Amino acid sequence: MDLKELKVNIKQMILDDGAKLVGVGSQDRLKEAPPSGDMNYCLPGAQSCIIWAYPNPIEALENYFSKIERMSIKKAQDFAYVGAWKTAQKVAKYIEEITDYKAFPVIPNAKYREVNGKRYDFRKDDYAWPDFSLRYGAVAAGLGHLGWSGNLVTKEYGGSLYLGGVLTIAPLEPDPMAEENHCNRCKICVKACTTGYFPMDEEESRQEVIIGGFKEVYARRGAYSKCGIGCAGWVGLSLDATWSTWTPDHTSLKKHTHEEWIKNRSLRRDLLLKLLRDPNTPREIRKFNQKILASFAKVGITENVGLRPLIDTNPRCGNCNFICVADPKKRKELYNLLITSGKVYIDKKGKEYVKKIVDGKEVIHYPIPEKEYFSENELK
Ligand code: SF4
Ligand code: SF4
Repeated sequence: MDLKELKVNIKQMILDDGAKLVGVGSQDRLKEAPPSGDMNYCLPGAQSCIIWAYPNPIEALENYFSKIERMSIKKAQDFAYVGAWKTAQKVAKYIEEITDYKAFPVIPNAKYREVNGKRYDFRKDDYAWPDFSLRYGAVAAGLGHLGWSGNLVTKEYGGSLYLGGVLTIAPLEPDPMAEENHCNRCKICVKACTTGYFPMDEEESRQEVIIGGFKEVYARRGAYSKCGIGCAGWVGLSLDATWSTWTPDHTSLKKHTHEEWIKNRSLRRDLLLKLLRDPNTPREIRKFNQKILASFAKVGITENVGLRPLIDTNPRCGNCNFICVADPKKRKELYNLLITSGKVYIDKKGKEYVKKIVDGKEVIHYPIPEKEYFSENELK
């Protein structure tokens, strides 16, 4: 089989598995990228990356941001991460079976390189290097460019998507790079973040990301733990305290500057103690937080979010990524849904509910729980 046919077949296989975008990039385009753009770390001699994307369904996003329910996003996220890993293994196997070229399936998330003997430096709390950056690969493969949030932004689906990828020694012809960056600097991603992980105006300057000769410009990265705590769903409250993420712990990390968060380590320690152990924290909230910790520990062991069981897939923030849909008008609409969606609480029995003010009156509703949305078998 010649390389042209191989590329066509691989792309079709990926689209048949449910991805909506797929492209091919080259190591040459990534030669000036940071370390996570070097394919040789995973596969010595690799020349090509095949990268694909699964977007979030718009209706699921509307329900998620308005807090009607979050099970549709849970389903989409599980489909994307588990699917990305399965497809990556299938494609790598296919390449190796029908050609003499080696191939490497990239883990979609949660795997980081060891640098100076550490995978992540808790003291510095700033960088973690994936084995291979799917975002860099996606830029090299012509899917889009990095937006202000640092996420990949595509013309077709914005940044509200998940990525999968395979590296191979096969010298496939790269697809053209995206000509335009479709991030319009609306900064809705910054406004939708309750932790202040990345700022409104300051660009990242500590490392340059140059791909295919283009410089990717995005917001300065903050402390990883700020996003980690918020994204996990341990805390999440808007600065004006009117809306939360999908968490009953109403603390806004946005009020702490990046410098304060990094320097004042007792701030982080005290917060974690409050979330997990402090008897003054309601028992049901501590239990909720401990469950999140257990789910994260499981992913930590496998270092592969593609192996995460559905029951441990619990999107509670992800706002900066989810909200960045392609249509700027829709993005604004989603943001308006978010800021009028109220706050999540948890009752004595551990059931989550949402409280919001409508026409001056308090309204409460219980979103659909996972046991009613998914079958017992799916949740095993
Ligand atoms: S939300 Fe707006 S500013 Fe943020 S990455 Fe998307 S398009 Fe860019
Ligand atoms: S995932 Fe949530 S907490 Fe993390 S940067 Fe995005 S919006 Fe902020």
